Formats: sequence, C-alpha cells, structure tokens
Amino acid sequence: MVKFGTANTKYLGDVMNAINDIYEKVKSRDPDQPEFHQAVLEVLESLEPVLEAHPEYASIVERVVEPDRLIHFRVPWVDDSGNVQVNRGFRIQFNGAIGPYKGGLRFHPSVNASILKFLAFEQIFKNSLTGLPMGGGKGGSDFNPKGKSDDEVMRFCQSFMMELWRHIGQDCDVPAGDIGVGGREIGYMFGMYKKLRNDFQAGVLTGKGLSYGGSLIRPEATGYGLVYFAREMLATKGKSFEGAKVSISGSGNVAQFACEKVLDLGGVPVTMSDSSGWIHDTAGIDREKLAWIMDLKNNRRGRISEYADAHDGVTFTASAPEPTPNGLWGVDVDVALPCATQNELNGAEAQMLVDNNVIAVAEGANMPCTPEAVEVFHKNGILFAPGKASNAGGVATSGLEMSQNSLRLSWSREEVDQRLENIMINIHKNASETAKQYGREGDYVFGANVAGFLKIAEAMQAQGIV
Ligand code: NDP
Repeated sequence: MVKFGTANTKYLGDVMNAINDIYEKVKSRDPDQPEFHQAVLEVLESLEPVLEAHPEYASIVERVVEPDRLIHFRVPWVDDSGNVQVNRGFRIQFNGAIGPYKGGLRFHPSVNASILKFLAFEQIFKNSLTGLPMGGGKGGSDFNPKGKSDDEVMRFCQSFMMELWRHIGQDCDVPAGDIGVGGREIGYMFGMYKKLRNDFQAGVLTGKGLSYGGSLIRPEATGYGLVYFAREMLATKGKSFEGAKVSISGSGNVAQFACEKVLDLGGVPVTMSDSSGWIHDTAGIDREKLAWIMDLKNNRRGRISEYADAHDGVTFTASAPEPTPNGLWGVDVDVALPCATQNELNGAEAQMLVDNNVIAVAEGANMPCTPEAVEVFHKNGILFAPGKASNAGGVATSGLEMSQNSLRLSWSREEVDQRLENIMINIHKNASETAKQYGREGDYVFGANVAGFLKIAEAMQAQGIV
C-alpha cells in the first residue's frame, strides 16, 4: 500500500505543501478551467486536518482530482429548416471507486469541459454522502433546448445518444437530468439507447417517466430534499419554516419543488427568477400561483416576467450585470435558496442577505454561491449548506430509482418520500457530526467535504493504484 513518505516521498512531512502542490498542478494542467479550480480548491481547503490524521491519503487526493475518463464527441443533427447543426457532447466519468458513475446531463450554451468537470467532481462527494453506492460523473452539451421545437429536441437527443450509448450502462454509468434536461429529453434518449442496444436496461438513465421505469418523487426530489435539509439546519437554532419568508432563485425543476415543500412546511416564498430577471411577490407565491408557474415553465415554456403581468402586486426586475440592492438577494428574507446556476450569488449579495438578518442559506443549485459569498456567511455565523449536501436528494432518489429498476418493483410515493427524507436527515447528521469531530461545529462545507471524501479515500486505498 502506498504510504505518505514512502512511495509518495514527494509529499513527505508537510500537509500544506502537499495540498498546494496538488492544487497548482490542477491549475497548470488545465489553466482555462476556472470553475473546476474553484470546486477543487473548496474541497482541498477542507482536507488539511484529514491529511494530518491520514498522511497516506495525500496520494489519494492527487488521484481524486483527475477524472477516470473524459469523453468528448461531435453531435450533428438537422434542424426544422433542413440545416445541419453541430454541437459538442461530453461525458466525464470522474470517479468510480464506490459504484457506477452517476450524475446528470446538462444542455446549455455555457457547457464546456470546465463546468462539467466541476460538476462531476462535486458529484463524487455528493454521491458518497447519500450513503448509496454511486460514483461521480456528469455530462452534457452546449446545445440550447430553449426555442427549439419538440422534433428538433428529439433529433438532437437521438444524435447525442448515438455516441453516448457505448460509454454508459446500468452497472457502468447512469446519467440523469440537469439544467435543460427534463423528462422529455430523458425519454428521447432512453428510446434511442433501447433501440441501439436492443435491450431494455431500465437502470441506464434516471428521471424516466413513470410508465417505463421512473420513480415517484424523482422530479420533486432535489427541491424537497433541499427543504428537508434546510429544516434540519433551522432546527439547530430552534427555528422552523413556519411563517418564514423565503427567497428562491430559478424557476426550473429544483426551484419549483423547493417552493412546493416550503409551502408544505408553512413558509412564504416571495421570489423566483429565470435568466431574464426575477419576480417579487410580497403577498407570497401560494399553491395556485405555483401551479401557474409550473404550467408556464413546463408546458408553455414561457418567461418569468409573464408572472408579473398575470398577477397583481408583483414586480419584475430584469437581470443586472452587477449586484444591486434591487436584486433578488436584496429582498429581506429569513431563508435564501439559490436554485438556478453556479456563481449566481456573490460576496456583495451575501452581505445584503446578512444585513437583512437572513438565518439560513441552502444551495439548491450546484455552487451558486461564490467563495466570497460563503466567506461572508461563515464570518457572520449564518447557517450555510453547500449544494453537495443540501441538493443531494435528487441523486439519492435517482439511486432509489436504480434500486427499484433492479428489483423490478415500484415503491409508493410515500415510501420514496420517506426514504428521501431519511437520507437528507442522515446527510445533515453526518456533515454536522464530522464538522464537530474536527472542532468545526456548524461548518457544513467542511463537514460535507470531509465526510464525503473519507468514504472515497477508504475505497480507493483498498482498491490499489488503478
Ligand atoms: P432547470 O433547467 O429546470 O432550471 C434552471 C433554472 O435556472 C431556470 O429557471 C433557468 O432560467 C435558470 N438559469 C439557468 N442558467 C442561468 C443563468 N446563467 N443565469 C440565470 N438563471 C439561469 O434546471 P434544474 O432546476 O434542474 O437545475 C438548477 C440547478 O440545480 C443547477 O445548478 C443544477 O446543476 C442543480 N441541480 C439539479 C438537480 C436536479 O435534480 N435537477 C440535482 C442537483 C442539482 P432560464 O430558463 O431562463 O434559463
């Protein structure tokens, strides 16, 4: 077995040097991947006390920052006017130490290797935290489904799968949805996979429709799980969602079901957004208004500004390039749930939330808070949950979908929801207890990184240098 100071003598003695060396190497190998560097740095910063206690894990850290495999392919398709379009497809199989690679597919014009590597890297620790046997992966394309016809989306998904199918499988790599990939896209991709393999492998994709192997509660899971996690955080301060004002960003899958669960727990959601701007409904987004938003986003595929036109007393503010007190995070709330995209909440915006006495911030999106924002929350004693802990309910329920597919059984809505709730309670407990054990009580970033890492490190250590 490789030990710190034996086969890995380059890191002999000095943990901080080891961490710095590894980070510098990550940056110099791929200097144009800032989102990936950001995600790696956040984990490495937590690992110093772990490496002090387990110096042999320095060599694991060196390997865990390098993907097992990076697949990059061309996706040609024909649009409704008969023109050939060419997009880029990716799948990052980052770490398979504890189970088949697992992680979503993102279709968005901003997709590139840096964004997908950051997401796949985060996914390793998130999946480990769920307690289920899933490795970390992520994929997607720079294809923009917005404004495309159903036929165009279908042709794109089919072409994407014509390459991806040879790299995935229910015991090898199991993709799911993410930004721009919902039930419609998963259905088209599953259909093509089945045709190419001539094999009904229900467990090859998750987020499927109920009629062909999907799980109840999977669409709701990330948003519901986020709110279960935030409820646990609030409870540590003797608080609850009852009567709490809540700001939510985004209006996609995660945001919609976070809003629904906030309502279930007696909270009052007052904001939602999309890439064009945000709405502020001081009276609160109630169930009827949420149903209106779900129809707008999932069926009519419209813009959130239409909500302000259709409802009294609601303001719509267009997105601004710089943070402003007129921005979504300037609203006076008790709980903030950023559920749109990475780096959407910066240091200045975090300070606005603090000035308005926010109690808790829980990430529904992946890495929506910049490092400066996280620092502001920590310095001011705000409860802050990183996405790898608080949004893990989606992938956890994907894991439950895989279990049901293997068993050829379908669990009831109540059963899946109960399992999801228990998983989120356990993740909260695991992250809190790990932080406490290392003298970092209340630091969920530290607790989640370390708890997630330790399981991976043990598995990698046991499996040798592969
Ligand atoms: P959706 O595509 O359903 O919704 C995304 C929402 O975010 C939309 O309202 C979208 O607005 C907005 N948005 C996207 N990009 C930007 C941007 N650059 N600026 C401002 N707003 C933007 O995606 P999901 O809800 O599935 O995912 C949201 C986040 O949650 C992502 O970070 C994702 O990785 C994360 N996540 C999702 C999980 C899931 O199960 N779906 C699981 C765990 C994490 P518009 O429509 O205008 O683009």
